[in-house]
Amino acid sequence: MKIISLVIIGIFISCGTLFSQNSKELHILIIGAHPDDAEQSCGTAALYIAAGHKVKLVSVTNGDAGHQVMGGGELMRRRSEEARKSGAILGAEYLLLDNHDGELLPSLENRRKIIRLIRDFRSDIVITHRSNDYHPDHRATSQLVLDAAYMVTVPNICPESPILKKNPVFLFDTDNFLKPTPFEPDVVVGIDETIEKKIDMYDCHVSQFYEWLPWNDGIIDQVPKGKADRREWMAKGRRAAAEEIANKYRGKLISLYGTEKGSKIKYAEAFEDSKYGTRLNKENIRVFFPFIPK
Ligand SMILES: [Zn+2]
Repeated sequence: MKIISLVIIGIFISCGTLFSQNSKELHILIIGAHPDDAEQSCGTAALYIAAGHKVKLVSVTNGDAGHQVMGGGELMRRRSEEARKSGAILGAEYLLLDNHDGELLPSLENRRKIIRLIRDFRSDIVITHRSNDYHPDHRATSQLVLDAAYMVTVPNICPESPILKKNPVFLFDTDNFLKPTPFEPDVVVGIDETIEKKIDMYDCHVSQFYEWLPWNDGIIDQVPKGKADRREWMAKGRRAAAEEIANKYRGKLISLYGTEKGSKIKYAEAFEDSKYGTRLNKENIRVFFPFIPK
């Protein structure tokens, strides 16, 4: 009887160990400068959510400047509502910090806010911009996140917020800037099954994708009038960008997914390890990206 009990206890213990190793709930914090920046990683974010993990989206500015006819509080409220809708499609909270758009500084006050955010969400992975980027708010956001990367483990910094015992993995999302160094992905994720959800999220940002950005690019007259037509017009560029990433980093996709699956992936997102937190490596990559097959 005792032996049977011990065997049963042993089975429970080993199942418990196996369960906790394979099913740890990951917390992914995506920190962009503007409402609509975090979406760039949301094909991957949707895969995390589908697998039962938690995602939170953050815009470090409130988006109150980027528009040709609106501004201030009115625009901030509109951007906030667009972000809320976008987050709801994903199934995640979308938080806007109250910093003016276009004027973000990597101040100590903002660094403290980012440290608390990363800690309070118990983040395992933090995704942000690289620091060589055309937009000053993107550069400041990147610096704020990287400046927080070690401090999240230091108890006497923001002592009211409990530290993270394990430093998160800090990743950069994709860009095409070449100086001083080009983007070099450490992980490429196939997003064929989630790209339309990602496009639905972008579609929530009406003030950006159908007003401000086309006006700023001098193509406002090209935006279709109907909702379905304008979504498709915007979606073409988004699908092309994700297809370009899959093709550009095809070798990486094949090394992660195997030849058969890696060759067939049409749309992808890519991430580079900043090397400022827990390092991504061959041993842990499938722990942090559990939807990549073994
Ligand atoms: Zn931006």
